[in-house]
Amino acid sequence: MSADDQRPTTPRHRADSPVDAPSPVNGTRSGNAPGHATDDGGASEVAGDVRGAPEVARDDRGAPEVAGDDAGVPGPGVAAPLFTAHLEEGLDAALRAFAAAPTILLGLDFDGVLAPIVNDPKMSRMLPTSAAAIADLTALAGVTVAVVSGREANDLVALADVPAGTKVVGSHGAQWGTVVAGPDGAGALEASPVELTADQTELRAELIRLTHEIADGVEGAWVQEKPAAAVLHTRQAARDDAARLTRAVLDGPATRAVQVIVGKEVVEMAVLEVTKGDALVRLRPETGADAVLYAGDDTTDEDAFAVLGEGDVSIKIGDGDSAAAYRVTDPEEFSAVLVRLVQLRQGTLDTFS
Ligand SMILES: [Mg+2]
Repeated sequence: MSADDQRPTTPRHRADSPVDAPSPVNGTRSGNAPGHATDDGGASEVAGDVRGAPEVARDDRGAPEVAGDDAGVPGPGVAAPLFTAHLEEGLDAALRAFAAAPTILLGLDFDGVLAPIVNDPKMSRMLPTSAAAIADLTALAGVTVAVVSGREANDLVALADVPAGTKVVGSHGAQWGTVVAGPDGAGALEASPVELTADQTELRAELIRLTHEIADGVEGAWVQEKPAAAVLHTRQAARDDAARLTRAVLDGPATRAVQVIVGKEVVEMAVLEVTKGDALVRLRPETGADAVLYAGDDTTDEDAFAVLGEGDVSIKIGDGDSAAAYRVTDPEEFSAVLVRLVQLRQGTLDTFS
């Protein structure tokens, strides 16, 4: 479970479960190859049935500007036509239009999108295919990639294998920065300071103090001091202790926070109310983007989907109701979207030169 799996709850009445999330804009589903179920639960067996299939030679995607024998893009260990050929027709058409815009912004959640969800959040790693595609995209003119996550921004950069120039939005929109080349060659975060008012600074200190009072001395529990939040972590604590501490925090300091995000084994109490949607609203003019693609897997990503409009592309990864227009099954399938964009963008740029 990761920071991105946290569910917003009180006191803003934000959706706290997929059930409460907005309904899909339309019935379009991606990741469901022909013959696949398109039930609302998002069930899909694409990985087993399509990528593992001996042959897929779709030439009927309906996109006018690509020949019917388009071979698609090869992925690691996957024959060329198989890797992207199963991308749903509507999504592929949307990607073509998106890639043709002069300036584009890709807003990408990390956990569950670029990196498969793992039990230990510290062990999350980007899929190599996605990392390579992001590096390729960043090298192209008119492309900005932003990783938008609930994670603390420095932690995010330490885990994310993204090139210099990548925008970083951490703590659900409270932290901002850009990846620069560090002295050891690895990416480092050049962060913008989090600006709090005097009242917010005081509240943050109070939340941290109160949370320490509750959690200190309890084995396996710890308090993370984020720039705009106090966070209780109980994953490593005994189950009784975890339940007791979570209750105590929710009944205590959380009642004073501006925004509370409750996840499994995590309670985040923030002094700012910011969302991933706010982040996109800020990023779009900053990057001069003519079109925005956003991909996410969790409830907090719905805020980002909600601010997208015509010409933008919204992609939900995995199950659960969503306002996103398109859906793919898992991070592996999303890596095919990124690879596809590299191909399309490289081809499209030829027409601008
Ligand atoms: Mg996520």
